[in-house]
Amino acid sequence: MRWLKRPYIAWLLRRHQIPDALWRSIADNLALIEHLSASDRARLRKFATLFLYQKRFSGARGFEVSAEKNLIIALQAVLPILELGMDAYLGWSEIIVYPGAFRVMREQQDASGVVHLQDQALAGESWSRGPVILSWSEVEDDMLNPVSGRNVVIHEFAHKLDALNGRTNGMPPLHPDMDVSEWSEILGSAYSRLQQSIEANGRASIDAYAATAPAEFFAVISEYFFTAPQILQDAYPRVYEQMSRYYRQQPLLR
Ligand SMILES: [Zn+2]
Repeated sequence: MRWLKRPYIAWLLRRHQIPDALWRSIADNLALIEHLSASDRARLRKFATLFLYQKRFSGARGFEVSAEKNLIIALQAVLPILELGMDAYLGWSEIIVYPGAFRVMREQQDASGVVHLQDQALAGESWSRGPVILSWSEVEDDMLNPVSGRNVVIHEFAHKLDALNGRTNGMPPLHPDMDVSEWSEILGSAYSRLQQSIEANGRASIDAYAATAPAEFFAVISEYFFTAPQILQDAYPRVYEQMSRYYRQQPLLR
């Protein structure tokens, strides 16, 4: 971590340690992380500890946050950054949790330039330098059905990673050993093929929501990468390969 000195991190990890019983009750029952190696699990616990220390959780519309619920969110939030480092989540601090889907009023411009006020129900939302907002019922749903290719926490935090280079456009800051034009070509063509397939026959090999914008494509394939990597690999093997190079993880081998 760039902003904290090593001895301070060690102190912080001791001082704010997640109690063993709490850790086991959550980590042992979260299918998303059941195939992690012992050393990855230990690192996940460290990251979750720092995440819980750095971020402020608050409940909205009567939702009460608790140590258990915060840990459930934290564990899923830090899994994608296990090889990227905690710095990936610097620059913002708040997580707001609603009991269920929440409604927002948005202005949206249609193709003819007319602005409409839309009332939308959302399961999650991520502001580029602001809070992450989650629906708890969605988080619970993902725990009951962990291999569906859906995970609202991973989806919203993928938007956070995407926004790190200033634009939420489906391309997070890539590593020096990656190639921007290769990424754009591979993800861009997969995105177009998905759109064409939906248009032609209404069929989609992954959640059709991925076809609504490049940023949503990246967030949705991140969900598949961590919860249903085989589906992503079968549908878009080159996309899976780019994702494993970006996240520096191989969920398929777990
Ligand atoms: Zn999204």
